[in-house]
Amino acid sequence: MTKKERYQFVIDYFQEHMPNPETELVYDNPYQLLVAVILSAQCTDKRVNMTTPFIFEKYPDLFSLSHATFDELFPLIKSISYPNNKTRHLIGMAQKVMQDYNGAIPMTVNELITLPGVGRKTANVITSVVEQQPNMAVDTHVFRVSKRLGLVPQKLNTPLAVEKELIKNIPAELIHKAHHWLILHGRYTCLARNPKCRECGLQQICIYFHRLLKQQG
Ligand code: SF4
Repeated sequence: MTKKERYQFVIDYFQEHMPNPETELVYDNPYQLLVAVILSAQCTDKRVNMTTPFIFEKYPDLFSLSHATFDELFPLIKSISYPNNKTRHLIGMAQKVMQDYNGAIPMTVNELITLPGVGRKTANVITSVVEQQPNMAVDTHVFRVSKRLGLVPQKLNTPLAVEKELIKNIPAELIHKAHHWLILHGRYTCLARNPKCRECGLQQICIYFHRLLKQQG
């Protein structure tokens, strides 16, 4: 099977079974998405979703968040991982957007990564979810699943290398969907420890699955 055929099989499968994938973070606008994605680092979407309604009620926009104090915001996110850093990042992010971008969240990766708490992965998520830009955020699920499926060479060992390889091989107009496909597949089927291969429709082309079969003789 050629690389092109492998990609096509995966794309066809997800187009059929997950035609309209979406982030599981709950948000109403780019401001809320940015806050939620910053909070989601090393934390589950479920926990973030339990927390954000209280933040958005008290700080409905960037302006109000930019005036928050650490002591006011911290109690609202203390149940999330790394609350100290995230409290500082959220306030710093809001202040920088107000000062440097006239209160409008920038929509390029290069500008977004100048904001506190925003790395390349977060910037890729924001631009691909808000504007469907062809940017691929590589988290632990995307990294694992694309290697297991053989979409990227096993030797690639950084998220950036995996991101570049996926971008090269997935049609630009599908990249924003592919990000969700790989995350959701990793979250619910291709689990890190015990992948549910028996119920996975990608067995046929999966390098990891065929290696397992060989090991079992
Ligand atoms: S066959 Fe198994 S390892 Fe391969 S993608 Fe499916 S769940 Fe993951």
